[in-house]
Amino acid sequence: MHILKFGGTSMSNAKTWQQVFDIIKRYESPFVVVSATARTTRSLIKAAHKAIDHPQEAQMIADDIATRHNNIVEHFLADYDDSSQTLMACHNWINICIEELKEHLATIHSQQELTEQLKDVIASIGERLSSYLFTECGYAAGLYTTWLDATQIVRTDSNFGKASPNLDFISGKINSLQQKISADNIPVMGGYYGMDANENITTLGLEGSDYSASLIGAALDAEAIEIWTDVSGIYTCDPRFISDAKPIPQLSFQEATELAYFGAKVLHPSTTKPASKKQIPVWVKNIFEPDEPGTCISTESTTGGPVKAITYKENCTIVTVTSSQTVMGYEFLAGVFDILRWHHLAVDVVTTTEASVSIGIENGANLDDAIEQLNGYGSVDVLNNQGIISLVGCNSDNCLVTDILSQVRNVPQNLISYSKSKGNLNLVVDNDQVLSIVKTIHKKLFS
Ligand code: ADP
Ligand code: MG
Repeated sequence: MHILKFGGTSMSNAKTWQQVFDIIKRYESPFVVVSATARTTRSLIKAAHKAIDHPQEAQMIADDIATRHNNIVEHFLADYDDSSQTLMACHNWINICIEELKEHLATIHSQQELTEQLKDVIASIGERLSSYLFTECGYAAGLYTTWLDATQIVRTDSNFGKASPNLDFISGKINSLQQKISADNIPVMGGYYGMDANENITTLGLEGSDYSASLIGAALDAEAIEIWTDVSGIYTCDPRFISDAKPIPQLSFQEATELAYFGAKVLHPSTTKPASKKQIPVWVKNIFEPDEPGTCISTESTTGGPVKAITYKENCTIVTVTSSQTVMGYEFLAGVFDILRWHHLAVDVVTTTEASVSIGIENGANLDDAIEQLNGYGSVDVLNNQGIISLVGCNSDNCLVTDILSQVRNVPQNLISYSKSKGNLNLVVDNDQVLSIVKTIHKKLFS
């Protein structure tokens, strides 16, 4: 079995839906996971926030989402005879979802509050819409697509916004479901969302559909998990900004995880976890160029150049905490990281001295709260407007570091960390320098 995941760009319009169905037809027993249509999740979250003070704008966003989905199914089904029943079913489903959305928006306005729990319910509407409509349209196009509601399969904890899945539950559920589905059916499930033990809808974090696909792949012991997107694999750098970036044919699970973690948006950082546990290869492929090889992520890695890829994150902060004299070094570090843990903050770059620690970290709502708490723990310096550049898969001696640093010697480096054993070099620089440095280093390493 192959798990095929199609992201927002693949789901954006009637034409891409047709391309996706043509890809699905190539497989003998696929299991399909889809994202929301392009921009929908962001619109839903925007509507949820707007609902507090601007209820009419929020309702307009809801209407716009309805119109876009109606347009997609109408355009798609126009090419198929005898599809009026399907069209009715689709319109009906869109109405149900948008009515539900509008009720939630009204609740937010009347209570003047948007809880994390309700935000997840609203965010999940994107995938609930797309997966059902896509299933209906697939059937009209001659595929035996059958809809699976992710709430019935993807059990998670109750950490709204970034819930952790329960792989054992998912395995039990999906395997018993699979037995009931006839062999020629093609299951289609929305990614990104699931449900906790109290029947609350949860989400796995933004871009979480990749993760859903990997969880299903691991649960079903799939032959391969394929992440289909709008570029031909994982590149040496984001091809949208670095025009001479090239696809990487082969990456190890660890390299791919680090690339995703340090900002390569093409893959959700948790995607590799379930797959690597079961040693299932993950492919990244392009719906617009389906015959291109793409990237294979597995236990193997190719050796070759000095570095596998460069990634970057903008909008980061360096926080430096200096201990008051009374605390021992080890206690001090443990205390700082305890505060970060409490705020669910993942650190990207860290360096320490005996009495201080500097941390490079992505901006976010929790960071301000954490900084306030750290203030009570030692003296805190905050450097805003930072960007983190990461070189992943460094396969070389220390000369590489000297070499790279000499390339950017005119730019102030605000924080540097290098691990030879992990093959990882991180540079933290001013935000407005990030792209030009990335271009310089990429040229040096890959041209
Ligand atoms: P989807 O909608 O299919 O989930 P995403 O937008 O999440 O697609 O991811 C694909 C995008 O990731 C690409 O269009 C590309 O701009 C971006 N990207 C960032 N870094 C990389 C990289 N190293 N390799 C490939 N794509 C990358
Ligand atoms: Mg994505």
